[in-house]
Amino acid sequence: MMYVVGVTGGIGSGKTTVTRLFEQLGVVVVDADVIARHIMDRGSPAMQAVQQRYGDQALHTDGSLNRAWLRAHIFAHPEEKAWLNQLTHPLIREQILAQLQAAKSSYVILSAPLLIENGLQQFCQRVLVVDVDEATQCHRTANRDNVSSQQVKAVMAAQVSREKRLEHADDIIDNRGDVGNLQPQVQQLHQLYLRLASQ
Ligand code: ADP
Repeated sequence: MMYVVGVTGGIGSGKTTVTRLFEQLGVVVVDADVIARHIMDRGSPAMQAVQQRYGDQALHTDGSLNRAWLRAHIFAHPEEKAWLNQLTHPLIREQILAQLQAAKSSYVILSAPLLIENGLQQFCQRVLVVDVDEATQCHRTANRDNVSSQQVKAVMAAQVSREKRLEHADDIIDNRGDVGNLQPQVQQLHQLYLRLASQ
């Protein structure tokens, strides 16, 4: 039985930065966002279902999915979101499970911004939340993605609140300080997870 640590946090909290440090320690990181994107790769069953439902307008001329069109379409037709979710969520879960089971490290990390929102905790023995205050979240994301703080706030509104997320945490990494503060926290948790995984 694989020992799985779910890593989550709001947009710009530092999940990617933190999971890279775990990777450097040899821990396999399964990324739910990467999997979700690949579910719609050209020629995939999910993409073919989208083409059947919406026609060629949903595709670029090279046959790949027009993600901007799909986003806009779902925004204009909220009821289509349920259809899309029932198509993609089981496929995403299946792929997450396959990658977790294939992982060859002492324990494995499942990194997912929407871990709690999408009920992915069911795959996890433990939940680690990367935490910052909202103002920090906002300015770091705005800097990284070159977007307005307004746009960041819109994404944040679609995620669970900081308080709610922290309620689900077994462990918390405080990322309000300098990046240099992360390494010791990661080291300590790594030792803990190695112990827990070997029990
Ligand atoms: P997430 O994956 O949670 O969206 P990232 O790891 O990409 O967050 O971090 C968001 C941005 O903030 C990135 O540009 C990253 O380099 C930067 N960052 C992360 N941690 C810190 C920190 N402690 N101090 C300053 N900048 C940071």
